[in-house]
Amino acid sequence: MSDHIRNTSPMLASLRCGAKTRSGDACRSPAVHGKQRCRMHGGAQGSGAPKANQNACKHGLFTGDAIAERRQIQALLCEARKLLEEMK
Ligand SMILES: [Zn+2]
Repeated sequence: MSDHIRNTSPMLASLRCGAKTRSGDACRSPAVHGKQRCRMHGGAQGSGAPKANQNACKHGLFTGDAIAERRQIQALLCEARKLLEEMK
C-alpha cells in the first residue's frame, strides 16, 4: 500500500452550503466559488431568475421597490413621532 498522505484540509475548510435539506439538516456540500450555496441548491452559474423577472409576481408586495417604499414611510413616521414627543 502507498504511504502517500493525502492533504484534504483545504478541501474540508471550504465554505459549506448550509441549505435546509429534506431531512431537516443543513446541506454539507461545498459552496460554489463566490456563492453561498452548493451546485444543487442554487449556486450554479446562470441559476436564479433574471433581474425584474415578472413570472412569479402576484401582487408586488415584496418587490425591492415596495420594500424600500415601506422603509421610507416607516422612517417618516418615526421622525413624526419623535417630533410629536418633543412638542409635548
Ligand atoms: Zn447544498
